[in-house]
Amino acid sequence: MPSYKAPVEDFLFLFHELLEIDKRKEVPGFEELTPDMTQAILEGGAKFCEEVLQPLNQVGDEHGCTIENGVVRTPPGFKEAFQKYCEDGWNRLGAPAEAGGAGLPSVITFAFTEMGMSANQAFSMYPGLTTAAYSALWATGEPWMKEHVAKKMISGEWTGTMCLTEPHCGTDLKLMKTKAVEQEDGTYRITGTKIFISGGDHDMTDNIIHMVIAKIPDEDGKLANDLSTVNFFMVPKMLVDKETGEITGRNGVSCGSIEKKMGIKGNATAVLNFDEAVAYRLGGRPPEKKTDTGEKKKSKSAGMAGMFGMMNGARMGVGIQGIAIGEVAYQNGVTYANERLAGRSLTGAKNPDGPADPIMVFPDVRRLL
Ligand SMILES: Cc1cc2nc3c(=O)[nH]c(=O)nc-3n(C[C@H](O)[C@H](O)[C@H](O)COP(=O)(O)OP(=O)(O)OC[C@H]3O[C@@H](n4cnc5c(N)ncnc54)[C@H](O)[C@@H]3O)c2cc1C
Repeated sequence: MPSYKAPVEDFLFLFHELLEIDKRKEVPGFEELTPDMTQAILEGGAKFCEEVLQPLNQVGDEHGCTIENGVVRTPPGFKEAFQKYCEDGWNRLGAPAEAGGAGLPSVITFAFTEMGMSANQAFSMYPGLTTAAYSALWATGEPWMKEHVAKKMISGEWTGTMCLTEPHCGTDLKLMKTKAVEQEDGTYRITGTKIFISGGDHDMTDNIIHMVIAKIPDEDGKLANDLSTVNFFMVPKMLVDKETGEITGRNGVSCGSIEKKMGIKGNATAVLNFDEAVAYRLGGRPPEKKTDTGEKKKSKSAGMAGMFGMMNGARMGVGIQGIAIGEVAYQNGVTYANERLAGRSLTGAKNPDGPADPIMVFPDVRRLL
């Protein structure tokens, strides 16, 4: 069974010897950071990742997520681990203090993200996408959304997703077909299909907040062929009362199927169908823009800065995933190379009492590691 030991010493060396973060008091978020505090966070995070998340990695791989009558279930133990993750405060490490977060700088939160991704990537993608989603909502949402929705995502009561990709388009999002039609009360109804949605549905929380991009059609109901009418929306799986924050019923979002994506079986990668789902436009009303001729033109796109903030969070997360998988693969490769016996070293036996030497003695194995 694969193992993982969080590289806490390496992180401490980077933070304190190389970056000297405790000397950067002028940088926002670094004012109160002391070496003791960083060490305590990293050691606590390492313990959680090694003892709770890593043992669930193989469980997640073997069981995967399931869908039955439209209900998605995560592998055994994921729900309990997520509860503990949130209770221990790992979900809100980088969230602003006024939102109930610990307000730690990314250099620290990404160290924890790396440990989580090494220990159990499938699990860690749920809170990873939630962080990107709540950050976008905190940046662009109306006060009731921050109070009753974003704060629940930060505490871990609810999770979040990023819904961009569609069956026929990923990179080239101007081809998107998902449409959002404005209603008299100022809300929108979203119809369309999004695919590859990480953590798109699951049984770990009562609600999931989908951050969705969609096009607003023109008066004739037609969608533009470019990005000019793309907007950013909040679409809760379960509808939320604006005044109380209570769940009031089901929204028109359903999981069509769970996809097989790059072997990440413990993360429910969902095909999500939006069927006239109630949606809230983010980023306020777009301002009027002046054209070259000086004529005023109403822009139809808003909230895209929030969307790109979310995407950048996701991009950073994907970069960290690469480092994290490299780290855990290396650790297990080293263990294997020290245990596996085959052949003899060219410079004389290094394990003379055994039937062969460990493969670590071969220069090419060391080069590969
Ligand atoms: C692990 C994982 C998790 C994901 N999670 C989510 C999620 O939570 N939410 C979500 O919305 N999506 C998610 N996605 C989908 C992801 O965003 C898309 O896969 C991505 O945008 C690429 O789109 P595509 O797969 O349709 O590839 P395509 O757009 O069809 O591209 C195919 C290939 O062509 C290349 N290519 C395309 N256009 C250009 C160009 N102009 N110049 C040069 N090369 C180009 C691409 O780099 C790629 O190699 C996830 C994907 C993965 C793998």
